[in-house]
Amino acid sequence: MKHIEIIVPCYNEQECIAKLYIEVNKVFSQLSGYSFSLLYINDGSSDDTLVEIQKLASDYGDDKIRYISFARNFGKEAAIYAGFENCQGDYVALMDADLQHPPALLPDMIAKLEEGHDCCGARRVSRNGEPIIRSFFSRGFYRIINKVTSMKLVPGGSDYRIMTKQMADAIVSLSERERFIKGIMSWVGFDTVWIEYKNVERFAGNSKWSFWGLARYAWHGFVSFATTPLRAAIWLGICLVSATVVYAVILLKNTLSGVRAWEDTTTILLLLMLIGGVIITLLGVIGEYMARIYLELKGRPIYIAKASNIGKMVK
Ligand code: UDP
Ligand code: MG
Repeated sequence: MKHIEIIVPCYNEQECIAKLYIEVNKVFSQLSGYSFSLLYINDGSSDDTLVEIQKLASDYGDDKIRYISFARNFGKEAAIYAGFENCQGDYVALMDADLQHPPALLPDMIAKLEEGHDCCGARRVSRNGEPIIRSFFSRGFYRIINKVTSMKLVPGGSDYRIMTKQMADAIVSLSERERFIKGIMSWVGFDTVWIEYKNVERFAGNSKWSFWGLARYAWHGFVSFATTPLRAAIWLGICLVSATVVYAVILLKNTLSGVRAWEDTTTILLLLMLIGGVIITLLGVIGEYMARIYLELKGRPIYIAKASNIGKMVK
């Protein structure tokens, strides 16, 4: 019998807690060979989320319903980290509390792990019920982030995942404070397959994301993985210095052939461009060092191994 633990970050989800358990239980009662537990992370809810979780735990047992309750709202990323850090079982799943991640997909997702994949994610193929502007920016975000970082994020790829415990442990080994789980799950590697599903409206309550909240999240994801902006200045500076040289040659040629007289303002302009270019290049060089310090500070493992016969798996 394999055990699957499902991590559920919850922030003001009182109506969803019991319903999620019922739906997950329904799925597992038709699936032989697997047991499950839910690990609810109450992320400082101000409603009765914790009461609901405790009620569930007293009804079904502390083994089946496990929980961690935060002292305040630390955000979904912190809740996910707490979940991964404390999870148990052969496989670990991550699922939203609001039933927008359909539990009915679990059997197919588990089947993918049994085929030998390390992780199966659910990918939204329709965005019904989502504002058009949100879909538009979301697509743009994926396009840019895949271009400028080493991450490969799948458009529509949700946080709804199931993975081996080994991969879950690898995720925890990235101990950086500013976390971006979508990027981290891609960074650790391992073999991920996707199954598709249609967008579902949340069961109850409201989305915790405003447009600006999402924009901030996208920017956070970008700077967590991209050092391009820090390094871009070098190229800008080099372009400006090169343009200055070309411009100076053209002006000199014009002066020598008598087309245009060399004036003091020409010298000043060229000097300004040159000094500006040099300063921007130097800023880029400093940026290059800062990028290295930034990456070093994250203290990520240097490598993550998947198999070995000498026992060393991480770092
Ligand atoms: N969530 C959380 N902490 C927060 C915000 C959200 O744990 O500060 C949880 C929330 O309870 C839900 C999941 O993260 O289970 C996704 O949130 P939401 O449904 O609001 O996001 P959306 O589906 O609209 O992207
Ligand atoms: Mg939701």
